Amino acid sequence: MGMRVMIVSSEAVPFAKTGGLADVAGSLPKALKGLGCDVALAMPLYRQAVEGGFDIEATDVEVTVNIGLHKIRVPLFMGTVDGIPVYFVKQDEYFDRGCLYGTPDGDYFDNLERFTLFSRGLLEILSKLKASYDIIHCNDWQTGLIPAYLRSIFKSDRTFNKTASIITIHNIAYQGLFPVANFDITGLPKDMCTAEGLEYWGKINLLKSGIVFSDLITTVSERYSKEIRTEEYGYGLEGILKKRRANLYGVLNGVDYEQWNPEKDKLIAARYTKDDLSGKRICKKDLLAEFGLKLSIKKPIIAVISRLADQKGFDILSKGINQIMKMGAGMVVLGTGERRYHQLFNKLAGKYPGKLGVKIAYDNTLAHKIEAGADILLMPSKYEPCGLNQMYSLRYGTVPVVRATGGLDDTIKVYDKRSGEGNGFKFSEYSPSAMTKKIKEAITLYRDEESWARVMKNGMSEDFSWKRSAERYIALYKKALKIHL
Ligand code: ADP
Repeated sequence: MGMRVMIVSSEAVPFAKTGGLADVAGSLPKALKGLGCDVALAMPLYRQAVEGGFDIEATDVEVTVNIGLHKIRVPLFMGTVDGIPVYFVKQDEYFDRGCLYGTPDGDYFDNLERFTLFSRGLLEILSKLKASYDIIHCNDWQTGLIPAYLRSIFKSDRTFNKTASIITIHNIAYQGLFPVANFDITGLPKDMCTAEGLEYWGKINLLKSGIVFSDLITTVSERYSKEIRTEEYGYGLEGILKKRRANLYGVLNGVDYEQWNPEKDKLIAARYTKDDLSGKRICKKDLLAEFGLKLSIKKPIIAVISRLADQKGFDILSKGINQIMKMGAGMVVLGTGERRYHQLFNKLAGKYPGKLGVKIAYDNTLAHKIEAGADILLMPSKYEPCGLNQMYSLRYGTVPVVRATGGLDDTIKVYDKRSGEGNGFKFSEYSPSAMTKKIKEAITLYRDEESWARVMKNGMSEDFSWKRSAERYIALYKKALKIHL
């Protein structure tokens, strides 16, 4: 029988999503199963999942979880996705809410209680069922207590005798910080709440808990695994990551090519392949119409699909945009995020009518149409653990211009006109001028039809499928099991 792997995530497609983590938690189990693993997924039973119309059923399993002095009953619900069993931890007071982690006004005040209950509740359930897994694969701060529980409260539980734990960091800026006075809620022994444990400058830090107590740590690109060991990118956790560097690895996220593939994408105006790009022209016309751009089809369109946040480079983009608008290209921006950027980009669209199209929305169909219809995808991120859009755009023949950081640096290879190799453009310095210089270079190459066809084709031939990443994870699971022994 294959390795038994439990993926634990606070969100997963198709049940509940706020970001890239849900895509990973939705795709990785399938890829692991395809390689022979016996996989299960666990997540909280949110309102979104209940209302999503999925087949999720009650079981007769119920455990009691201590949250501080309170004893809370936690029933197990079960569902499946692509034949993979999904454990849903149910507790309506905590999870039957409008959002997953908080409202636009801030995080839910009881997130420590909520994710303590999820983490501890899941282990209680597995223990009761005597469901042993070789690997418990945690993701981000919401699951960071699990490795600590495995080393304390559940240490002598035979169910977890041979279980190794892994944590994957999807974005180190989000750590799950809570007042140290609330430590008792976790039920962990006091000696874990030290600087060597999960205490962090007078707070408790759930991501740190995962990093300190797991057998092995991964993050979502090779480059990011190095960056987070530096002061610039580590958000205060660089010291502890340096200590654990022998067991820290980068594994790039994969792309779901069932969803993101111009050969079969039903959301775009016409299908196309790398050998017949005629459909891409139709998609470009469709995009011009969609945004009301009055631009010759011969001019390049630069696209941005992103959360409107500083992390994604919106500060340098705001400063450089007037310069970009002078380059004779059109531009489309799709995103939601910080209010000040909503206002700024709506204002800019008014300043450049017919040239700059802005949609402040979360719109998956439009994201597909942009990937297909644009010529250049811009990702000027300040930091980018992995990034998905640049990988999507490669497959759609939309050439990425990116800042050389994290997963962007690992996936984009600079195009070299002489050798004809490479799939995009990248700049290093985080500044408006470094960005506009690279955009200008891309626009210049765009006018050279032969070279442009080459760089597009190179990108379209790249393979970032999940299979490769899942193979890497399996190798690391084996390593974690050895470390654990
Ligand atoms: P992050 O998870 O940091 O936001 P990623 O690049 O890893 O960034 O993943 C972002 C995902 O969300 C991609 O699938 C992208 O297409 C999608 N996305 C982001 N903003 C929007 C939007 N406004 N409308 C539709 N899809 C979006």
